Amino acid sequence: MRVLACVAVALVACHSRAAEVPGRSWRPVLERQGIRDERIIQAMEKVRRADFLLDSTKREEMADRPLPIGFEQTTSQPSLIALMIQSMELKPGCRVLEVGTGSGYQTALLAELCAQVASVEIVEPLAERSSSVLARLGYRNVKVKAGDGYLGWPERAPFDGVVVSAGAAKVPPPLVEQLGPGGKLVIPVGEGDDTELLVVTKKADGTSLTERSIPVRFVPLKGENAERDRGR
Ligand code: SAH
Repeated sequence: MRVLACVAVALVACHSRAAEVPGRSWRPVLERQGIRDERIIQAMEKVRRADFLLDSTKREEMADRPLPIGFEQTTSQPSLIALMIQSMELKPGCRVLEVGTGSGYQTALLAELCAQVASVEIVEPLAERSSSVLARLGYRNVKVKAGDGYLGWPERAPFDGVVVSAGAAKVPPPLVEQLGPGGKLVIPVGEGDDTELLVVTKKADGTSLTERSIPVRFVPLKGENAERDRGR
């Protein structure tokens, strides 16, 4: 009987949430990076990064660095994902657009924080994979489509927040157009080492204000629209 009880306890421990396992909490990492939004910290504790990783990298889920997800793409450093989400200043009930679904990890975090998440991914097999992982995990407030996220998703606009997970040469005008009043677009802009995170806020009068955040490194935004902006 005692043996059985121990086995039962061990099983419960195995299935406990990431945050309850020592060394499996993002909180210290996030607090060190200045992430103060408790809703974001709790979403990071709840969503298991390993669910979105390739088998070959699952063991590294708690490493605060980018990891390969196939198709020459990477999932970003978790503390940077948290910072980008925090920069959108999302409120409960929000509608958000993500450009660059990739693994679907950030999509799941957004789905924990918002009422509706629209996500566009240009690499079709990644759009399919992330969409089926998110469905398997039970996220019903997420729509993923394969396409060029430079153009946003006009049918689902306006958005309270837009987050772009790849570096652009310029801010894509459709993404600013699709922001609602007070909405914020967070996007890495620049080339190579000379890339920084920009936060564009749409004001009530329809004009927008651009603020510079931190220097970052990202995979380049793909597609003919982004290439045209690069002048190629
Ligand atoms: N947030 C994702 C990051 C993936 S990396 C994650 O956590 O996994 C950036 C992604 O942007 C890649 O999957 C890449 O294919 C995608 N991407 C690049 N250019 C794009 C574009 N124009 N439209 C949509 N997705 C794009």
